[in-house]
Amino acid sequence: MNRVATPNDFSSFWMPFTANRDFAKDPRLITAANGMYYTSHDGRQVMDATAGLWCVNAGHNDPLIVEAVQRQIATLDYAPHFNFATPQAFELAAQLANLFPTGLDHVFFTNSGSESVDTALKIALHYHRVRGDVARTRLIGRERGYHGTGFGGISVGGIVNNRKHFGTMLTGVDHMRHTHDLARNAFSRGCPEHGAELADDLIRIAELHDPSTIAAVIVEPMAGSTGVLMPPVGYLKRLREICDRYGILLIFDEVITAYGRLGTASAAEYFNVKPDIITTAKGLTNGVIPMGAVIVDETIYKSAMEHATVPIELFHGYTYSAHPMAVAAALATLKSYRQNDMFARVATLSPLWEEAVHSLKGLPNVIDLRNLGLVAGIELSPRPGAPGARGAEAMKLAWEKGLMIRVTGDIIALSPPFIITEDEIHTLFGKLADILRNLA
Ligand code: PMP
Repeated sequence: MNRVATPNDFSSFWMPFTANRDFAKDPRLITAANGMYYTSHDGRQVMDATAGLWCVNAGHNDPLIVEAVQRQIATLDYAPHFNFATPQAFELAAQLANLFPTGLDHVFFTNSGSESVDTALKIALHYHRVRGDVARTRLIGRERGYHGTGFGGISVGGIVNNRKHFGTMLTGVDHMRHTHDLARNAFSRGCPEHGAELADDLIRIAELHDPSTIAAVIVEPMAGSTGVLMPPVGYLKRLREICDRYGILLIFDEVITAYGRLGTASAAEYFNVKPDIITTAKGLTNGVIPMGAVIVDETIYKSAMEHATVPIELFHGYTYSAHPMAVAAALATLKSYRQNDMFARVATLSPLWEEAVHSLKGLPNVIDLRNLGLVAGIELSPRPGAPGARGAEAMKLAWEKGLMIRVTGDIIALSPPFIITEDEIHTLFGKLADILRNLA
């Protein structure tokens, strides 16, 4: 048993996206992890049904990654990447250029998804400006979109609670509607049939503002944090066509979908739609060291190289861009994905996963089930007058029963590490069914 004393003071650490006032009453503390499981402070094994926060794709404490990080810390702890670089940073960028669709060949390193989003938005604005298309300054996002917590990300994002408490956002931003439509699409398997026409919101917005004022549109190809919304069939292709028609850059925020979640290296590959910029983070390093990467189309990169009037083509970067520890973790993570053929494994598991997800149909309060790749959304009806209460209770009950799940309001999101076995999938959904039956 790995019992660890609980802290006396729960107030010093202001926890992210957490009910801080509530936490001390019932703390959920983690002390170790291995493979598919966490160890809780009271010595229990808890199955990680969410790969941490959608990041630990290869499972916890993958020996390949652990060794690479240990080796790196003993060799080179830090090196700046302004005017200097490590050879490994170029190696990683080249590998990423190979991994993403042809043409998306240039990589800017960040430390998180939020930084990747800010970077992508800035690169999009910069692209139009260096080409002399200076009126293109507007950015378009979507209702219910999640693009991290920087001011750029919350401006183009559309989750109301993440925006309303913080005053003025970036100006010149507009939002398309989201695609969540239970009336037409409840209990769809994979991508829902209805809703491709919602992409035409971009036409309406472009006509409203004049297309020549719009720089870029950013969408999650599969929206995660808002409660797992799959794109309607044909929706992303239609967005691409509209962007092409109007000269608008298309940014896919792939912070959760890149690196195998749908059974391919990227959602762009899965949906066969090529954006101009892809934002990534999370699975890039298996969550081990913070890192993000923005993958940029060659036309954008070349344009900066050709048109910039100053020696430094892009005045942007971070102290920790291409941090040696993160680069080492990322190289080892990509190796682990390759060696264990993990993206193909996701594709192989996903039909079984789909059956398991939809086996929850008919359980109390379940009003929708959604699945794609190794992702599930389980939407529960809200308790009258207490939206989110049922979801929060499900999360707590699951933890007690040895399962870590993630909830957004009353929607449960599942996204396990790719190493999950068929037996573990059955165990996971067996436990979840039990939890749902016990939920008032
Ligand atoms: N974009 C998307 C689509 C995300 O899902 C997330 C994180 N869940 C982010 C951006 C922000 O990433 P980070 O928390 O690493 O800043």
